[in-house]
Amino acid sequence: MKIAILPGDGIGTEIVAEAVKVLKVLGLNFEMETALVGGAAYEAHGHPLPDATLKLAKEADAVLFGAVGDWKYDTLDRPLRPEQAILGLRKNLGLFANFRPAICYEQLVDASSLKPELIAGLDILIIRELTGDIYFGQPRGRRTAVDGHFPGSEEAFDTMRYSRPEIERIAHVAFQAAQKRSKRVTSVDKANVLETFQFWKDVVTEVGTQYPDVALDHMYVDNAAMQLVKAPKKFDVVVTGNMFGDILSDEAAMLTGSIGMLPSASLNSSNQGLYEPSHGSAPDIAGKGIANPLATILSAAMMLRFSLNQPQAADRIEAAVKGVLSQGLRTTDIYSAGCTRVGTAQMGDAVVKALA
Ligand code: NAD
Repeated sequence: MKIAILPGDGIGTEIVAEAVKVLKVLGLNFEMETALVGGAAYEAHGHPLPDATLKLAKEADAVLFGAVGDWKYDTLDRPLRPEQAILGLRKNLGLFANFRPAICYEQLVDASSLKPELIAGLDILIIRELTGDIYFGQPRGRRTAVDGHFPGSEEAFDTMRYSRPEIERIAHVAFQAAQKRSKRVTSVDKANVLETFQFWKDVVTEVGTQYPDVALDHMYVDNAAMQLVKAPKKFDVVVTGNMFGDILSDEAAMLTGSIGMLPSASLNSSNQGLYEPSHGSAPDIAGKGIANPLATILSAAMMLRFSLNQPQAADRIEAAVKGVLSQGLRTTDIYSAGCTRVGTAQMGDAVVKALA
């Protein structure tokens, strides 16, 4: 089993180092190879996703990714910006299914801005389609371009589109995920206004007939956004398109209080995947040794479960994370009175110790 390790920028290097520490003590036979990505790759090779990094990612069974980006790259041409590396990896690896679990750990109930009774025991899974929708529609642009710039634009446009196969494959992913959970799928759309999402709703309904053991319901995205803060535990698996998924998965993430706790997985049709924390490179705290590495460690657990067929090792890591939280260890982002404040490396060491 080969894992491509792409730490990236900012806190990426610090948090990935802790996840690698955890992977190393599992006693499994991994080959791990590290490469530059994002701003670090741009500095060294002039491109955020150099050919060698892409080749490594393609050859690996899974990619463990930290985060990329820094404000200092904001003036670069868009194709050279660090974040383009993620889009390049998604596109080249065909990563169409994004899994964003939002789990509220009992020990962190108070970190949420919602009332404890609303989120205690929360465990939902947002599945976002990642390669279609308005983000990839054609045509797109602005009217009245002058020299590639748009000073006096009067209009801009992006086209929303989905094809039947794109909807079918993400629907199958959602129904199969639900079969392993509480057998409920909510498909989120805007079928009342958008033709693309009436089509989405029709195709998801058709696919649903192949899964008679899973209950399917449909919800408009505006209502879903409200229900997520009103009664989030009503949901189990939520499946939606790229743009609605982008927004709702961040909303769901924040229900749990800390972005530093939330893993994610992006998979292709052969279960090759890219695993990364839901947060960014946090330039404001980079280099201080205070970033929370748990989202990355939990992403490594998802990697073991989905791409490397090691579900027991994934269970062990997740139990170890709960163990360190129960011991009262907290990085600054999840700290509350009465707990013990620890840094990035101390948190990683504590997970390693709990595993042992
Ligand atoms: P961010 O997620 O990096 O940070 C938002 C806030 O959360 C910051 O205050 C940060 O300190 C805090 N935070 C994030 N992760 C944390 C952790 N593990 N532990 C403790 N605190 C944590 O989002 P941002 O500030 O909007 O973006 C910073 C850079 O990251 C930008 O260049 C952006 O483009 C990039 N970004 C990258 C990814 C990615 O690599 N997938 C995702 C989002 C943003």
